[in-house]
Amino acid sequence: MTQQTITPQGAGFSLDRLIAALPEVVDVALKEAVPEQYTPEKAARIATDMVPRLHALAAVHYPWCESGACIAHEDEGQMWVEHLGALHHAVLTDGLSDPVGLVAQIGFDPEATDFPTVHVWESRGNCSNLDGPALEAAIGRLEELVGTLRQLHGHLTAFQLGGAA
Ligand SMILES: [Zn+2]
Repeated sequence: MTQQTITPQGAGFSLDRLIAALPEVVDVALKEAVPEQYTPEKAARIATDMVPRLHALAAVHYPWCESGACIAHEDEGQMWVEHLGALHHAVLTDGLSDPVGLVAQIGFDPEATDFPTVHVWESRGNCSNLDGPALEAAIGRLEELVGTLRQLHGHLTAFQLGGAA
């Protein structure tokens, strides 16, 4: 098996210069586009609210990041980005009974872990963050469950055909 190196990719522009220009740009834009709602305080608040979004946009992202899903966090002036991939749903029931489903998503919060993990949760229940070995174990258990479900399906089919399996 070949190891693949995943290289994050940045937006390629100067975030500091953009953020420095933001208050004046937002002030002018709000004044010209929506003069009836303009106040200097509102323009300043909008510019401040945009800073975390710009950090998320300009951050170095991974090929598996879902566009717009990564979240910029701020704590005591330090900014960092939590990376999130697409949500993958497996709906196990079709609406004839209470819904049961699993959701999986890759993510990486560098303030919480040193490496990405896969978050797996039941659609209405608890979430587990799985590293590589834990994910491999979960895959094995799911494969066992699929085998068991096939056996149980065989029993249903035999019953419907009048057999006593
Ligand atoms: Zn990302």
